[in-house]
Amino acid sequence: MKKLLSIAALLLVSAAIFAQAGKRPVIGISSTWGEGTSTSAPLTYVESVIRAGGVPLVLPITLDPAIMAQMLDRVDGLIMTGGEDIDPLKWFGEEPVPGMGEIVPARDSFDIALIRMAVGRGMPLLGICRGHQLLNVAFGGTLYQDIPSQVKGSSVKHSQKAPRYYGTHTINIEKGSLLNKQIGLEKVAVNSYHHQAVKDVAPGFKVTARSVDGIVEAMEKIGSTKVFSVQFHPEGFTASNIDTFLGIFQHLVKEAGKK
Ligand code: MN
Repeated sequence: MKKLLSIAALLLVSAAIFAQAGKRPVIGISSTWGEGTSTSAPLTYVESVIRAGGVPLVLPITLDPAIMAQMLDRVDGLIMTGGEDIDPLKWFGEEPVPGMGEIVPARDSFDIALIRMAVGRGMPLLGICRGHQLLNVAFGGTLYQDIPSQVKGSSVKHSQKAPRYYGTHTINIEKGSLLNKQIGLEKVAVNSYHHQAVKDVAPGFKVTARSVDGIVEAMEKIGSTKVFSVQFHPEGFTASNIDTFLGIFQHLVKEAGKK
């Protein structure tokens, strides 16, 4: 009887291991509030995660840290998505300039708390556009609230009027950086839909790509292969089956599968 039980236990354990081996890493995707009545994230992020071999899971905004912690228990990595401006007064102590855009205070609070919690746990994290700026602010960096009115001599159009799968301005990428390894390029044309930008880089992070006017287009956490961000929108290409930036998502999914 005892022997039968141990055989049964062994079978159960093997089944569990096989199930685990076939499991794809789960990537949490941050979302926004449709005027407080819905949770939404663009499908381009969802499709990019799937194309990179991960399982997408959209995370709704909550202000309860215990709920955030349990969300993180269930994902292996995070994408902090693009979206609204970040409240300068609350998060980096600056009065708003006239060019500042729409802000969603609850989203700021959720996103920043989630980023700090996830990075504190050593979880892989990719910040995109707003997510790139949030990562910087969450660890003590600051932003330009509005490039056209605040960055003297910016000669590049960062708010493109072109399809999301189409690159309109160049970035120069640091050789040996995560982004360089992910896409295998030192120079590439990216899409661009932002008027805020990283100003002072947070301690512990380094710039890995810039546009020709000096705007920070990518960052990574120093000494980490897990935490990185881009100002452009790689999901706009990846979801349209253009593979130039697929490596960014594949790297995230690979890191998420490591634990
Ligand atoms: Mn740009």
